[in-house]
Order: sequence, then C-alpha cells, then structure tokens
Amino acid sequence: MLIDGKKIAAEIRADVAERVAALTAAGTTPTMAIVVATDDESTAWYVRSLTRTASGLGIDARTVELARDASRDDIRAALAAASADPVVHGVICQTPLPGGLKLDDVGDAIAVEADIDGANPLSLGRLASGAGEAFAPATAAAVLRILAHEGVPLRGRRAVVIGRSNVVGKPAALLLLDQHATVTVCHSRTADLPAVARDADVLVAAVGRPKMVNAEYVKPGAVVIDVGTNPTEDGSLVGDVDTDAVADVASAVTPVPGGVGPVTTMLLMSHLVTAAERASAKPAQ
Ligand code: NAP
Repeated sequence: MLIDGKKIAAEIRADVAERVAALTAAGTTPTMAIVVATDDESTAWYVRSLTRTASGLGIDARTVELARDASRDDIRAALAAASADPVVHGVICQTPLPGGLKLDDVGDAIAVEADIDGANPLSLGRLASGAGEAFAPATAAAVLRILAHEGVPLRGRRAVVIGRSNVVGKPAALLLLDQHATVTVCHSRTADLPAVARDADVLVAAVGRPKMVNAEYVKPGAVVIDVGTNPTEDGSLVGDVDTDAVADVASAVTPVPGGVGPVTTMLLMSHLVTAAERASAKPAQ
C-alpha cells in the first residue's frame, strides 16, 4: 500500500487554516522569516514553494536574502535579528550555507521559541530530555505524523532508522523512542545493514542514497517511511527506497514524491502557527 502524504498534508492544512483564521481575527498575522544565503536553484524552488503555501494560508513568509559569501557571523546575526523581531514568530535557516558552513554552525542563533524547524541544538536537547516546549525538525515530525495517521502501532515494536543526522535521523529516533518503540539507529558504519533493517516493524530511511533500500532490507509486513529526496537527471525526485522492489514485502510505504515531503511542509506551517499562538498568549511585556 502506498501512503498518501498529500492527503495527510491536506488534513493538517485544514487545521492550520482554522488556527491562522483565529489568530488573524485576534490581530496577529503568523509570520516566518526564511534566511537564505545560497544561489542553489533547488533551494530557491523550495523557498518559493514554502512562500506560496504560506501565503495561501494567510501566513506572512519573509525571505531574508544574504550575500552568497555571507560569513558565519553574518548568518548568525541575521538569524538572531529575525528571532528578536517582535512580529516574527518562526525562523528557518535554509541550507546549503556558503563556505562549507553547516546548520550546526549557526542554528543556535535562532531563539528556541522561534526554532520551528528544530535547527538549534537546544531544541534537539529538549527533544532528547523531554524538557520544555521545543519544536522537532519538521521532517522528523512528519515521519511520526504519518505513522500516527496510518494507525501504525509503535509501543514495544522495533523501529530502525537509517541515518543519524541532527535534522532527520536523530530526532526521528527520539520521537519514535518517545512513542515507546525499541529503536536502532544505523549509519554508514553499521555492519550488515540489511540484516539490522530486516529486524524492523517500522523502517525509516533518511540516507540520501537513491533507491538504496531494497527488498533485502525489509521484513515482510513492515511499514517503510522514505525520507530521501534525491534529485534525478530529469529534474524529478527519487527516494532512498526502491518502492517497486519493496512493494511486495512491506505492508505500506511512502512514495517519493508525495509522501514525507508534503507532510513536512504543512507541519512547518503548523509549528509556525503554534509559535504564534504561544507568543500571542504571553502577557505583553
Ligand atoms: P545527511 O546529513 O547527509 O545524513 C545522511 C545519513 O545517512 C548519515 O547519518 C550517514 O551516515 C547515513 N548514510 C550515508 N550513507 C549510508 C550508507 N551507505 N549506509 C547507511 N547509512 C548511510 O542527510 P539528511 O539531511 O539526514 O537527509 C537524508 C535524506 O533525507 C536526504 O535524501 C535528504 O534530501 C532528505 N531530506 C528530506 C526531507 C523531506 O522533507 N522529505 C527533509 C530533509 C532531508 P554517517 O553519519 O555515518 O555519515
């Protein structure tokens, strides 16, 4: 069975639209700042798509364009300024960054309250410890939302996450753990990866390698969530999972495109609205 991410996204959208309408009626326009310091065409496409989705919902999405040779300090200053702007509720730092910088080099300049895509290590720490209100990266949250929507049991089940990045693999593993799954996190040095993956009732692939996960990786009846988005020569996208190859083994699999991606975008909007709701519920200083 192919899991329809667009349908799940449409359900989240309906909820977000209602919450935006309530905030707007109360005089608050949910507003996000997207800091961009790259000419990368796929990033530009993604930012345009985010902005379009936001404006369709009545969300103000502002792009903060930085020079393509912006330094670590420039990017941090922009993220801190956006976080401190009283009309901005959520801040995203778009990757790739110039000069080989990683999100980890700048993410802590985003205030945790405005960190709607979980880029600040503090947000990940709070997720790990269960302390405080922090946002998980939207992609990791999308994995859990899809599993919940499909009614996939997690308590006491075995989950295997392939990939240990701070933006997908680790937070997805923490969220699965929070739902009482028994979680194994794999990476490029994992020995006999297909055998480890075959232990999973729920297999999450967040690797960045086109169609790496084939039938050999999948236990019969497992649910497979494909986070991978690998560009193809014809300008399309292919996942980390060979969907055709696993179709006869898995009980359900997310397609690429049309699986995790649309849910991620809508959860980002939902996080932004939550940040705006929290800010507007705070007594004025
Ligand atoms: P990343 O930072 O490059 O991390 C990739 C992870 O995969 C690393 O932990 C790496 O292991 C592991 N890995 C690489 N080759 C492997 C192999 N042969 N066997 C086992 N593990 C291997 O990537 P990411 O940012 O997490 O993204 C992963 C994928 O998700 C990409 O395709 C990305 O485009 C996609 N993505 C999708 C969304 C969405 O909304 N759908 C959002 C974000 C990312 P080591 O740690 O040992 O290097």
